[in-house]
Amino acid sequence: MNAHLTILTGASRGLGLAMARQLLQPERTLLCLSRQLSEELAQEAQRRGAPLIQWSQDLAEGAAAAESLSQWLAEQPAQRFATATLINNAGVIARIAPLSEADPGALAGALRVGLEAPMLLAAAFLHATEHWAGTRKLLNVSSGLGRRPMASQAGYCAAKAGLDHFTRCLALEEALKPHGARVCSLAPGVIDTDMQVQLRGADPAAFPDRDRFTGLKAAGQLSSPSEAAARVLAYLARPDFGAEPVADVRD
Ligand code: NAP
Repeated sequence: MNAHLTILTGASRGLGLAMARQLLQPERTLLCLSRQLSEELAQEAQRRGAPLIQWSQDLAEGAAAAESLSQWLAEQPAQRFATATLINNAGVIARIAPLSEADPGALAGALRVGLEAPMLLAAAFLHATEHWAGTRKLLNVSSGLGRRPMASQAGYCAAKAGLDHFTRCLALEEALKPHGARVCSLAPGVIDTDMQVQLRGADPAAFPDRDRFTGLKAAGQLSSPSEAAARVLAYLARPDFGAEPVADVRD
């Protein structure tokens, strides 16, 4: 058993694409879920002889995604992988405005992608791999905003706080099992991705903290996606991963 499995959401760009690149190895099967498929990732996988599967999946349809994952995992031999890991990385910021000005469809979609899908995928993963022999890990990519409130970010903050708290519950559940999964909801730091472009581009009249984000960029305080990916994956590889169900790479 020297093969590994990683399931990663939101691998088409930003932090997810950087993590996917760093995870490409001949002995690791990488299953990626996002709406867009990455041609550059496919080519890199081919060059490195790394098994890569990309599913085009809208995670606003979390139940369908979880059903597909359950079926796929059920087809894998239980003894095949020394480690199996789910990284719930995909996330969305809906319109940056007070909740009273929210677009209901966009807000519901962001909550589905940011909280409902991770929970359903976690349930499918933990159930399907329960009797697998290898080490099982669940990493939810959270945010400092799951722990600290911010005006005009109620949906995003609520999704991340939900991720943190369901991870705390899972940690209690898995600790009761003889071969429970190790779980953690991890804040990855501030990263130079499309999400930060969206925050800096918000209407300042609707977003009191906008200058904070423009200031971080101007001061060169954003991590590059590849730096952030390396820190998140190093955290995942720590021997004590899961000892703290809610953590921050900057701790
Ligand atoms: P990003 O550049 O905006 O990328 C978001 C990823 O999520 C994309 O791969 C996107 O893929 C996927 N995604 C969005 N909506 C989706 C949907 N409906 N269905 C499937 N996939 C969807 O974001 P990022 O900055 O890399 O963020 C990655 C994670 O880190 C998120 O959970 C974010 O909350 C967290 N985070 C980021 C920062 C930061 O400073 N950037 C800070 C703290 C936490 P498709 O568009 O192809 O579907």
